[in-house]
Parts: sequence; structure tokens; C-alpha cells
Amino acid sequence: MKAYQVKDAWEEETVIVFAKGGAEARRKGAKQLGIDFEEVSSCTRTPSFDKYAGQGGIPAEAYINAGWWLECSGCYAKIDDDFCTPPSDAENAAGYAAEHGRPWSPPVFAGPDVWCCQDCKTDYERRRRAEKRARDALPRYLRRYFPGTVFVSGSASEFRKGDRNAFVHFSFPGSKWTADLTVRACQSSVRNGRDKGRLMVSQQDVDAWQAFRGLPKEAAA
Ligand SMILES: [Zn+2]
Repeated sequence: MKAYQVKDAWEEETVIVFAKGGAEARRKGAKQLGIDFEEVSSCTRTPSFDKYAGQGGIPAEAYINAGWWLECSGCYAKIDDDFCTPPSDAENAAGYAAEHGRPWSPPVFAGPDVWCCQDCKTDYERRRRAEKRARDALPRYLRRYFPGTVFVSGSASEFRKGDRNAFVHFSFPGSKWTADLTVRACQSSVRNGRDKGRLMVSQQDVDAWQAFRGLPKEAAA
């Protein structure tokens, strides 16, 4: 397997794929980019990445060393070779601090991911943990406020430090579609169930929902 660099027609995104030949690389690249085969603008050999074939991915550091830039997994800062190089003197250090709002510290690499600094990685991991806790609390939350419904899936994301949007998809007796519940809540209120959120039930399921909740027909959701 050889490494190929595949670009989209708008030259906005480039991916590296491994393939036996150009046609296969083009097909794989298009799939990864989420575009049609005809929308690939170029597909060229990049032998410097050949050694990563069959290794389950290219380390972020290898991209940087080859002159690419990547986004920080935590804050989307642009990370290139310059960014990874310590300032050469006090003036450069001051320039860096002014531009980035913090003194230079080395980016942190982990497999295919890179973070602009250790603090950003720590914060990213804290967010992921908090989101997981919020997600894990959703079935319990649903049982408490809408007993008798069936949890289908849920997700949670932080939109501001400490605040989360949580989404719950669930079914209920007689429903044709899953109903969606959006809870804009901090994690503690998802956990404590103080915020009842915004409920969306399919138009076709409104009667079934009202019957299930024992609501009179006039009190349309
Ligand atoms: Zn960052």
C-alpha cells in the first residue's frame, strides 16, 4: 500500500489515504472527504507517508513535520511547525504571548490528535468527562420526568464553560416516531432533574402523546 494525497475540488480539504494505485486512492479519498469521485481535484503520491501504511493512522506529529498544519483538538487553534518551535529570544517570546494570550508551551501530541498546550488538553478532557456524565444521567432524567417512556439515545455537549445542551430521543406507547427532548441545563440540573427542557413530538404522534400523558385533546403540545 502506498500513500496518496487527495484534494477536493475546492482545495479546502486534503486527506492522506493508502491504496494500491491511483484509482483506488481517488475512490478512498472521495469517501473520506464526503464528496463524489468527480469532485476530487487531485490525487498525488506522497512517499513520505508510506511508512504509516497499516499502522492505523498517521501521527499528528508526522503531518506537522511534513509541513502540514492541524487544528488543536480542544480550541481549533492552527498548529504548524512554527507554532511547535520555542521562541528563539525574549522578543519572540513576548510576540508569541501577545498573539496567543499565553506564554509559549509545547503542543501535546497523542496519536492522530494534537493540542495547543497541556492546559487545553486538560480542559478538553474535563469537558469530555462532564459530557459523558451528563449523557449517562439522561435515562434517569427521562424516567423521572416522563415515566413509561423508553430511552432511545442521548447526547450532551458543552456550549459554554459548565453549561451543557443535552438531547434525548425517546419513544412512548403508541408513538410512530421518536420524540426529542432538548434540555439546556448545567450538568447538576440534568442530574437533579430541575430543568424539564423543551419537548418535540411529531405532529403524527400528538394524539398518542396526549393519550399517554392523560392530557385533554385541546391542550395541544
Ligand atoms: Zn487548544
